[in-house]
Amino acid sequence: MSGGDEAQLLNETSRIKGKEALHKNIEAAEALSGAIRSTLGPKGLDKMLVTENGSVKITNDGVSILKNAVIEHPIAKMLIEIAVTQEETVHDGTTSTVLIASELLQNAWELYKKGIHPSIIANGYSLAYEHANEFIYSNATKIKNNNLLESITKTSLSGKLGHSLRDQLSSLACKAATAIEKTSDLKIITNKGGSANDSYILEGLVLAKQACSPDMKRNLKNGKILILDGGIEKRMPTINTKINLTSPAMISAFREKELELVSEQIQKIIKINPDILVCRDGIDDSAIRLLQQNGITAYRRVERDDLELLSRTCSASIIASPSMAKIEDLGDFEYSDEENWSGVTHWILKGTNQKGMTLVIRGSNETLLEEVENAFSDALGVACQCLKNKLVLPGGGAIQMALSRNLRKWAEDFKGRESLAILAYADALEIIPRTLAINSGLDPIDKILALNAAQASSSKNSNHWGFNIEKGEICNMYDEGIIENVQQHEQCLASSTAAAISILRIDDVLWAKNDPTFPEGLEEQLEGRD
Ligand code: ADP
Ligand code: MG
Repeated sequence: MSGGDEAQLLNETSRIKGKEALHKNIEAAEALSGAIRSTLGPKGLDKMLVTENGSVKITNDGVSILKNAVIEHPIAKMLIEIAVTQEETVHDGTTSTVLIASELLQNAWELYKKGIHPSIIANGYSLAYEHANEFIYSNATKIKNNNLLESITKTSLSGKLGHSLRDQLSSLACKAATAIEKTSDLKIITNKGGSANDSYILEGLVLAKQACSPDMKRNLKNGKILILDGGIEKRMPTINTKINLTSPAMISAFREKELELVSEQIQKIIKINPDILVCRDGIDDSAIRLLQQNGITAYRRVERDDLELLSRTCSASIIASPSMAKIEDLGDFEYSDEENWSGVTHWILKGTNQKGMTLVIRGSNETLLEEVENAFSDALGVACQCLKNKLVLPGGGAIQMALSRNLRKWAEDFKGRESLAILAYADALEIIPRTLAINSGLDPIDKILALNAAQASSSKNSNHWGFNIEKGEICNMYDEGIIENVQQHEQCLASSTAAAISILRIDDVLWAKNDPTFPEGLEEQLEGRD
């Protein structure tokens, strides 16, 4: 770009620089965290989300709230992104991540006002983060039994759903996590009706499918299955072709040839003699007839993900076309049948390989089914991840308080200005225990002092002390079963620090539009603040 072009572009762009840019960005982060702060913890309040078409969702899940908000401000969007990453990678800790990022920025602003350069603050934050990461791993506890696994899923579901449903889902998530290797080995299916507490896990897979013909056999035991990543259909021309048929005889010859081709494909399948055939695409009517006459039960239009599940649960290969079908590609199943649930036919199949389970979620309405499905998926993700490295940390603000205390001591080793940023980082972590206290109606100053004192006076395992918000007391988090995955904290610190640092490094904001949009609906929250 020539110098002239650049100058013209800058002319058409509104621009905020230096101190003002930093201040505006930090205000946006604060406004966003202000919008979700009251949802943190088991006593956090819910938010009612009303979509443009008027549908209503009640949630206290930070990421759902953020995803639903119509927000234009780039900094707010960046924080929403870190919450979404938190959700996708570790399935929990979304609200905490945004709160810590915003608090790191508030504290940085205070240092900036005292004349500390943002790059020094960023350096200090980076050092503090490295130290924090080591601290959480050296303070993590290795879990030995599955009781603790259930405490972890319960903690992750705290504040969501009712007590008994939370316990039920936790236990289902732990059962599933210990049985399957990856979350994708579990199929989740909803069956409207009954209560959410009637949700259950079935060994095997359930798909909302029925065999291609009512005359095909059901209730099969100990058979073979062939999985086809395609269909058995009359061949469609792949490019626009015109076929000139000049006599009626040609039409019938053409049809016969088509049937012959379909029949050839079926013969290849019949040769290896499967009891069940599953296809990703369609199966031609003539092929259905032939399959049924040969005692093969066929299911068509099964999604690719479900084919993979079937393949794992029956140890079957997925083949690309019938011409490639070999006897070694067949998989084994123990049981296959169909059942009618609330007017929809479901195919139930149990493979011989233990992999493959289905969670059947019951519930009276779509909103509840969706809420239960989301909560279960998160709990399952948390449980599976925990089974991988088995390292846990105390919740209820305990680990943040312990880390904060440790960082304050560690900062004493630094002579330079970075030490002030390390102290600011330590202070920022207290936002978690402080907000947990506020959201339960407790005095945050008294509670933070009491928690600090409890950890300071404890001769060993001082970091185990945190808030049991249900009891309103400071307790040993391991005794209370308020524990969390180490990865959740690792990701939370990594994302919030990285976001804060990159925002601190921005000193020039160029807006393509004339009027920078502020997080919609959040501007009012900033009014009245100094
Ligand atoms: P996030 O989106 O950050 O996970 P949550 O609303 O799920 O937000 O709240 C999580 C916080 O609540 C964590 O710090 C967790 O340790 C804490 N927590 C969960 N259960 C309890 C409890 N019974 N007492 C105190 N704190 C709890
Ligand atoms: Mg949570």
